[in-house]
Amino acid sequence: MTHAKGYAAQSAKTPLEPFSFERREPKPNDVAIDIKFCGVCHSDIHQVRDEWGGSAFPMVPGHEIAGIVSRVGSKVTKFKVGDAVGVGCIVDSCRHCAHCERDLEQYCKEGMTGTYNSRERDDSAATQGGYSDHVVVDENYVLRIPGNLSLDKAAPLLCAGITLYSPLMHWKAGPGKKVAILGLGGLGHMGVKIAHALGAEVTVLSHSNKKQEDARRLGADHFHATSDPATFQKLAGSFDLIINTVSADIDWNQYLSLVNLDGSMVVVGVPEKPNAVGSFSLIMGRRSLAGSGIGGIRETQEMLDFCSKHNITSDIEIIPMSKINEAYERVTKSDVRYRFVIDMATL
Ligand code: NAP
Ligand code: ZN
Ligand code: ZN
Repeated sequence: MTHAKGYAAQSAKTPLEPFSFERREPKPNDVAIDIKFCGVCHSDIHQVRDEWGGSAFPMVPGHEIAGIVSRVGSKVTKFKVGDAVGVGCIVDSCRHCAHCERDLEQYCKEGMTGTYNSRERDDSAATQGGYSDHVVVDENYVLRIPGNLSLDKAAPLLCAGITLYSPLMHWKAGPGKKVAILGLGGLGHMGVKIAHALGAEVTVLSHSNKKQEDARRLGADHFHATSDPATFQKLAGSFDLIINTVSADIDWNQYLSLVNLDGSMVVVGVPEKPNAVGSFSLIMGRRSLAGSGIGGIRETQEMLDFCSKHNITSDIEIIPMSKINEAYERVTKSDVRYRFVIDMATL
């Protein structure tokens, strides 16, 4: 066992605080990584506060991990000491089901192993995430961070980046497609950058006017505030694709009315309560309502290489580890431009 230090939540009602724990010794196929930076995803907050149910404590959150390889097991072939690497939301899966065989480990039929708030496949221990000094991960679940991307700004690509890249590719965002990004937060701002790089006509739908200038700077062609009821009249039936990144409870029927004939709204945000969708919201315009979860390992590497080619990284605000609880408060108030990233040197 190796000694690790990090920050953990001891319960859903208590703030994160310093925490010491053990990680496994690297096995032959494992890579040990010195964590340099870790992004703060809204999913960390949902899970720490047990907003989705079933959270296990103590919990060291963090699944936007960027660091440097410090040790490799005897059978590791893909990485060497000193490599810049990332770890996202997945650290293992069954590796043999139909979905794993298609490189869709996030949809593993036996359930993927999450980077935290999950159990190792042999049930030997709880997994613990990236708000910590190091992590030990099987090399097949480790990503290579291209050299032109700085580790701090690349960290959020490991969750926010792939969560938007995957549906944008699957629903074929590109030239001639009208794509709306609903919610300009950590996920949403990556969606704007990636959809713009793919050549789509990009609209940001935001719940206030505050982020209008940022939206344009990030690559949006249009911006509309959803607090203005006129937005829903003006934009009725406009979009081929809406990616809904909103973390709060909103009425999906309103947003489905903005989808064009045969278009789709893809949900990636995970609010606390289920949503009631009326049949007519889908029937009128032969619309589809779908969901999408992160992305598999192969596609995550493809996304990192795409971002390297297009010089895409996250707009970040670096924080010391000790400021994590304040950062959570600001994220829940939509007061982050556009991702908090923890500098692990401050741990
Ligand atoms: P975030 O940075 O907090 O962004 C969420 C955005 O939602 C906010 O910036 C805000 O955008 C909008 N929003 C917040 N409160 C709202 C309200 N009351 N009414 C309307 N809009 C509101 O969070 P994130 O890290 O991007 O994550 C977004 C959601 O995706 C979370 O629920 C997270 O758990 C989930 N997630 C899902 C996956 C997946 O695989 N599907 C992966 C990662 C995260 P505006 O200010 O522009 O309105
Ligand atoms: Zn995430
Ligand atoms: Zn599987």
